[in-house]
Amino acid sequence: MNQNLHIKTVAVHAGSRKDDAFGAINEPIYMTSNYRIPTDGTPVDWSGIHSNVYQRNRNVNQMVLQDKLCALTGAEDCAVFASGVAALAAVFTTTLNSGDHAIVSEVCYSATNLLFREYLPKKYGVEVTLLDTTDTEAVRAAVRPNTKLIHVETPGNPTTGISDLDAISQIAHDAGALLSVDATFAGPICIYPLKHGADLEIHSMTKYINGHGDSLGGCVLGRTELIDEIKELAMVNYGGILSPFNGWLIARGLCTVPLRMAQHSACALKVAEFLESCPAVRFVWYPGLKSHPQHERAVKYMNGQYSGMIAFDIKGDEKQHEVFLDRLNLVTHAVSLGDIESLIVYYDKNSDKLPHYPAIYHEGFFRFSIGLEDPDDVIADLKQAMEACGVL
Ligand SMILES: *Cc1c(COP(=O)(O)O)cnc(C)c1O
Repeated sequence: MNQNLHIKTVAVHAGSRKDDAFGAINEPIYMTSNYRIPTDGTPVDWSGIHSNVYQRNRNVNQMVLQDKLCALTGAEDCAVFASGVAALAAVFTTTLNSGDHAIVSEVCYSATNLLFREYLPKKYGVEVTLLDTTDTEAVRAAVRPNTKLIHVETPGNPTTGISDLDAISQIAHDAGALLSVDATFAGPICIYPLKHGADLEIHSMTKYINGHGDSLGGCVLGRTELIDEIKELAMVNYGGILSPFNGWLIARGLCTVPLRMAQHSACALKVAEFLESCPAVRFVWYPGLKSHPQHERAVKYMNGQYSGMIAFDIKGDEKQHEVFLDRLNLVTHAVSLGDIESLIVYYDKNSDKLPHYPAIYHEGFFRFSIGLEDPDDVIADLKQAMEACGVL
């Protein structure tokens, strides 16, 4: 594609191959498990990733989506998977061997947490240090001679902490390790980890990239040499591939990602400002607020759009928090994020997956994914639920 096109144009057009057979303007969905194999004696690479042989090696809707993601992020190459977790597992199992050491954000997605706390050390002998990667010096101090991967979630799910990617990529590379960044919380165009030294950028496409809450997917972006390794191991031989139909849905979602991220970000800032000014609120963390502990980093690393994710708590006890959730009308209590509609989840104080930050949360807290509704309606919904549970 023309290098000078603007991001909104790229989002609409990149990757499209059109339909030569019938002239359809929309990309067809290639629901085919097999592709015709040449019978002219050309050697066939049965486990290869560079020709269409079988849907698990390579398929057309996957390629369209990968091209679009590369065009939007500036990545050289991309691999897509059936879920965000499949993409993460692909990265961890490709980059780590038994006896290697990994440094990982302790504030991270639950599957990442379990993989590093339980499965990778116990089943595969990987050494792991989980720590707060917003603390750059802690990362530096944790490096060992066998450190092979630093995995950072920024903004972190669920507390929105921002890590210093320039500094951490320097630490990783000085140690001969790779830096992988799960940037799901920011969406694909609010932050560009690859431009700040990350070797691999990972997204759960289930969230902002697809954006419509109707399919799962994951992607890994980076240099061709690394992406090829990931595809050869994890796509062809572990098999967690993205189906053509989900690939098509996600590519369709991606066409509007610049518009959606702008709107999510604008709405979230307004809702965060309301929460900050509301006497019923115990704390609010949103990277776009000056009061966010890493706001300066957010200004540096995010493109002036701070995505749609807020962490906050309201006063009252656990019972009142349950009433608050129950009385929300517009906002749904549901586990995903990055959808067109606003979703909220409650992390109670017994949530063993999370480090406890007494400074910010008391009983528990809410993770709030701001949708594309008018922010005034979202604010009105929050207010009436706070009144109903007696904190306002
Ligand atoms: C949701 C999420 C994942 C997992 O993605 P799935 O598509 O649900 O497998 C990974 N990382 C982060 C930060 C997430 O929010």
